[in-house]
Amino acid sequence: MRRLREKLYEWMQGRNGVDEMGIFLIGASLVLLIISSLLSVFLLSLIAFGLLIYSYFRVFSRNIGARKAENNRYLAERERLRFKLQSQKVRFGLRKTYKYLKCKNCKKKMRVPRGKGKIEVTCPHCGEKFITKS
Ligand SMILES: [Zn+2]
Repeated sequence: MRRLREKLYEWMQGRNGVDEMGIFLIGASLVLLIISSLLSVFLLSLIAFGLLIYSYFRVFSRNIGARKAENNRYLAERERLRFKLQSQKVRFGLRKTYKYLKCKNCKKKMRVPRGKGKIEVTCPHCGEKFITKS
């Protein structure tokens, strides 16, 4: 058993191994497999197997630089989504206190207090002024 482990360790040298993106891919393929067996949708199980094969390819890949770049892109995207979800949550919690709107000039988001009637808003990003109902 120990020799087998050593052999496996030797064989994995110089290969990518399991990273965060790999864990996500394996998890996603498992979820897809469960859904496809519940709904008996063949296409979903094909996609699930495709993801599984791709995740194995990434685990055993020797091109560590390319896999690392993929993983970093995955992590950045995950972080971006997490941030977006978090700010949506905050926004939802404050929906009765603030009205959220976009600047007509620079399209950036801002918030104004609710229940003040017609107010003039100055964009904190570009200084554009406009009238809105709050
Ligand atoms: Zn603006």
